[in-house]
Amino acid sequence: MNVYLDNNATTPLHPEVKEAIISFLDYYGNPSSMHETGRMVKEKIEESKDIISQFLGAKKEDLIFTSCGSESNNTVLKSLLFSKNKNNQLITSKIEHPSVIETARFLKNNSIPVSFLNVDSNGLILFDELEKELSSKTGIVSIMYANNEIGTIQPIDKIASIIKEKAPEAIFHTDLVQAIGKVNINLSSLPIDTASMSAHKLYAPKGLGLLYIKDFNKMKKNFTPLIHGGHQEQGFRAGTENTLGIVALAAACKALTREMDEEIKRIKQIRDYFEFRISNEIDNIIINGKNSPRLCGTSNVTFKFVEGESILLRLDLNGFSVSTGSACSTGSLEPSHVLMALYNDPELAHGSIRFSFGRENTRDDVDKLVAVLKKEIGYLRSISPLKNK
Ligand code: PLP
Repeated sequence: MNVYLDNNATTPLHPEVKEAIISFLDYYGNPSSMHETGRMVKEKIEESKDIISQFLGAKKEDLIFTSCGSESNNTVLKSLLFSKNKNNQLITSKIEHPSVIETARFLKNNSIPVSFLNVDSNGLILFDELEKELSSKTGIVSIMYANNEIGTIQPIDKIASIIKEKAPEAIFHTDLVQAIGKVNINLSSLPIDTASMSAHKLYAPKGLGLLYIKDFNKMKKNFTPLIHGGHQEQGFRAGTENTLGIVALAAACKALTREMDEEIKRIKQIRDYFEFRISNEIDNIIINGKNSPRLCGTSNVTFKFVEGESILLRLDLNGFSVSTGSACSTGSLEPSHVLMALYNDPELAHGSIRFSFGRENTRDDVDKLVAVLKKEIGYLRSISPLKNK
């Protein structure tokens, strides 16, 4: 038995996605080929893009397929390197995903002015800092919609109105990788200019990302492709399309259109039940980001006096898959940069576990998890030098 509780890292394929993949396996044509074998695939891609853009509330021509969310973030931010304007300052936050933070560091090392905004102890960016940093020099503001480690949702409308007032020319980019599929999003009415998304977070396979550029035809002059070559994706992103991934993502979007509202409610109930139980049955815990709006399935918990890695390994031995932070940081023993930004306390940051619930989880999973957690946290604390010092 394995109970998968790491849906922010990646998601299992939706059964309808599996079916769509299997029925498309024999469509091997290159969509750029002019013959029928290629044309059939091209048609399927167009049909799929219609479904995906409808699900996202976007104009079809404003969506660019990429290989992943990281590529989409890189594409937008690295455009600052080639910007002919002097207004090329990047403003971002200290809790972004590494695909934004590391790109920002790279830009900084290449003479682009970068500001990293602090967050409060609930994980929300400090608006007075944003106001202070914004100026006519600001090129891009990149603030994630929802955080992958603690699930906090930033007030995008408020951020957009501050940007509009202080730096109306600046581009507002948001990383939507964690929000899509967990929050109802309509891209056309969201007050942002560009956004990144990733198929594997919404029950489709890995290897497909999306970049949204609002009013693409008017705005594309502000961005530089990351990958040059063929004419795919309106000449903006070269490379033969991930046809199987695109068809799979369309199947996921179709299923989510039907199921998402109910699933958001159901998953939130499971997450809230989990937090209710551990708050009552395990002492010395902190539920990180609890006081701000959060993604329905994310619960990030600090268990004081124990190391997150030890908890993760012991839960794994008991058949529960969880994570200590973003999957990309796993393997590094650095404390989570997100929790460090919240508390600036390595001990609290080290003892945290991210539980992320998804469409396959049930209340029964929580009952089993809480029983194991009580036993394992009790054991780890009994041998913890931190508890006994
Ligand atoms: N942004 C956020 C908030 C994420 O959680 C992730 C993945 O965990 C990414 C970007 C990167 O997406 P991908 O794995 O498709 O590169």
